[in-house]
Amino acid sequence: MLLGMKFVEPIERTLDSKFKFRCHKNISCFNKCCRLTDILLTPYDILRMKKRLGISSGELLEKFTYTHIDEKSSHPYAVLKMMDDSEGKCPFVTPEGCSIYEDRPAICRYYPVGQGIMISGSEKESVNKDFYFFIREPQCLGYHEDKEWTIETWRIDQGADLYDEMNREWKEIQLRRDNPGQPKLDEKKQTLIYMASYDIDKFRRFIFESRFLDVIDTEEVEKIKADEIALMKFGFKYLKYVLMLEETLKVKEEYRK
Ligand code: SF4
Ligand code: SF4
Repeated sequence: MLLGMKFVEPIERTLDSKFKFRCHKNISCFNKCCRLTDILLTPYDILRMKKRLGISSGELLEKFTYTHIDEKSSHPYAVLKMMDDSEGKCPFVTPEGCSIYEDRPAICRYYPVGQGIMISGSEKESVNKDFYFFIREPQCLGYHEDKEWTIETWRIDQGADLYDEMNREWKEIQLRRDNPGQPKLDEKKQTLIYMASYDIDKFRRFIFESRFLDVIDTEEVEKIKADEIALMKFGFKYLKYVLMLEETLKVKEEYRK
């Protein structure tokens, strides 16, 4: 989900697709990919990065990201902000490599593979299908190395499989929103969606420090209080509700019209 990706090979790949690749510190292009790029972040990226950096989601978003509104769906996305200098490096790159390597975003894990999700099948029996493609930036010399992978072995090796599992429901929401005929989001909805997708600390305050739980009936209170991943997933339910995709939340009897 890179924005404005150049050098994307226009061939759809599957998990069995093979490629040769190795990235290591002694390669002459080391770190060249960590500059002048737009890395679209996912909710689970934020959870991992904020924990790694020991800061709140709000601070992370303010310092290290900008908001991109998708033209088609009007959905707001957080994108990693490159340094505002002539080199345009990622703020996390160091001469030794990525300073948040163990918690780097999903897109960085997949690279040089790109990944997306689409609807396939008929209108009556549609399924969501992952697809993959190779990004062949001329500067990236890793393709000339001799280690062979399939996309499946690569994503497991890079820990991208866990990210896929965590973000799947969120990506499916984007896919449903991308359907023609979906109304454009107004600013208020965009703000709520951005909060539930990315600003988990603000979302927590929204749930526990507003009248939300007076109005919404949920058995998940203790779970989402104790577990940030459960809170993130509750955020996905909230997104579906706000976007009117599903009745995922129940309004208490006394508040129903
Ligand atoms: S987060 Fe790490 S891997 Fe990703 S672009 Fe920045 S330095 Fe590179
Ligand atoms: S081989 Fe590719 S991914 Fe690795 S450092 Fe070089 S440009 Fe980046």
